[in-house]
Amino acid sequence: MSKPTIGFIGLGIMGKPMAKNLVKAGYDVTVFDLKQASIDEVAAEGAKGASSITEASKDADIIITMVPNSPHVKQVVLEGDDCVIKAAKKGAIVVDMSSIAPLVSKEVGEKLNEKGIIFFDAPVSGGEPKAIDGTLSIMVGGPEAYFETIKPVLMVMGASAVLVGEVGSGNTTKLANQIIVACNIAALGEALVLAKKAGVDPQKVFEAIRGGLAGSTVMEAKAPMMIAQNFKPGFRIDLHVKDLNNVVETAEKLDMPVACTDLALAMLKELQAQDCGSLDHSALVKISEKAAGIEL
Ligand code: NAD
Repeated sequence: MSKPTIGFIGLGIMGKPMAKNLVKAGYDVTVFDLKQASIDEVAAEGAKGASSITEASKDADIIITMVPNSPHVKQVVLEGDDCVIKAAKKGAIVVDMSSIAPLVSKEVGEKLNEKGIIFFDAPVSGGEPKAIDGTLSIMVGGPEAYFETIKPVLMVMGASAVLVGEVGSGNTTKLANQIIVACNIAALGEALVLAKKAGVDPQKVFEAIRGGLAGSTVMEAKAPMMIAQNFKPGFRIDLHVKDLNNVVETAEKLDMPVACTDLALAMLKELQAQDCGSLDHSALVKISEKAAGIEL
């Protein structure tokens, strides 16, 4: 069977390497972004550069979107003259890989389905390094009947692609992921600062506990950054605030309090107010450092 043709919209930190990996894997990929330089960069590796969303979508069997948040997805897919829903052929499959509110995924999916277009939400975890390596974790929501069609494409960009349920489930899973990551980073920062304030070397604490129950992927990635005071992103605080706002909005609709998320979100917002929004989320340690009056 010949490979499906792909339209790829949104060539930022994540979308650029993901689109490049699809080109490398031999797919016919047509790319679009608001930034011409990003289109040119991916085109230089063998993609076709498009001058509009319409051009990137009209002949594609699969259209992938990778933009910042819910309003961008609605804009690209549903709104205005130049949008996916107007351009895509009947039977095309749209895969939104952005991290957005699950209810917006459902809304977008319903509108596309009315036009005979199939929709999946398929956000990712792993950040830029795993996007470059093609080893992202991909959480997928959508119709089981079409999952096998998109899975080989997803597996070019990811080490795993798990169908978790219907449309919206992918982003619900991503919200769960983001709660765990944020609270884990906040706790890690507090723990290392407490150790330092008590006179114990945070590096030694990390080495002593990384193999125990508190050890985690978060600890492996973020403890060295905190200890080195290296807050180069990675995953920006601004994006984590966006995700936790989506958690709060979703929890309100489900009538469920989210105390841990509320605390982590308040800490992240405090950092935004201190002009740290573009730092890596490991900068959460700064909140504990300020409270303790020391640096790691
Ligand atoms: P980014 O801001 O670097 O890239 C977004 C891209 O979308 C930009 O190039 C922008 O020009 C483009 N865009 C926005 N509106 C557009 C439009 N109307 N038409 C065409 N292009 C448009 O963001 P990113 O870091 O690549 O993140 C993308 C998504 O992936 C977000 O939802 C983010 O939360 C999620 N994510 C990011 C990371 C990470 O580590 N950066 C990790 C996992 C998930």
